[in-house]
Amino acid sequence: MTIAENLAIIQQRIKQAQQQYPNTATKIQLIAVSKTRSANDIETAYQAGQTHFAESYVQEAIPKIQTLAHLPLTWHFIGPIQSNKTQAIAQYFNWVHSVARLKIARRLSQQRLAKQTPLNICIQVNISQEAQKSGIFPQDLPQLVKRIQTLPQLKLQGLMGIASPCNEFSQQQQQFHQLNQLQQQYDFMNELSMGMSNDLEAAISKGATLLRIGSAIFGKRQ
Ligand SMILES: *Cc1c(COP(=O)(O)O)cnc(C)c1O
Repeated sequence: MTIAENLAIIQQRIKQAQQQYPNTATKIQLIAVSKTRSANDIETAYQAGQTHFAESYVQEAIPKIQTLAHLPLTWHFIGPIQSNKTQAIAQYFNWVHSVARLKIARRLSQQRLAKQTPLNICIQVNISQEAQKSGIFPQDLPQLVKRIQTLPQLKLQGLMGIASPCNEFSQQQQQFHQLNQLQQQYDFMNELSMGMSNDLEAAISKGATLLRIGSAIFGKRQ
């Protein structure tokens, strides 16, 4: 399968899920997760119509973003964030989905250049009930939301969650439902970043607006 064929299959799966389930989002943005993939693969996906891409590792991402700077791409950061990487993230990316600490949010706001538009932010919530997984716990969310709203160079757009790896559809739905319910408490938040190659239908059925899809587009990672 080529990248273009895989993209067409994913678009078909998205459309089908939107028809199958009630209350799905009318606009769903497919984000191609290009971590470990070459700039060449990204350009191939772009030529097939894909413009949103996500990366998890700053050092790997920056050279690719620079190489592809001539293309009108939107870059999303979805990986764990260390303090010493916030400056590069603030300046090179359009979206950050993995904000879970106030300290990181403050640095991103401070380091986003004044000439740039505010950085789009999703707060990552731990929906898998696994202690070692990243993301803020639901009970700590209201406080972080309130604080992030005061940061001038950030625009809080929504919530992000990663479901625990399981093939049970109802278990996937249960985790995404929890994120949906949390997001509904904030009427200024429009985005729900959830759904990966293995659980995108469950995520769509619970209102996902931003899908982060890697291996189903580019093939299995090494
Ligand atoms: C790698 C990754 C994805 C994509 O996963 P696939 O299973 O390859 O679709 C999505 N979200 C995050 C946070 C990731 O790290």
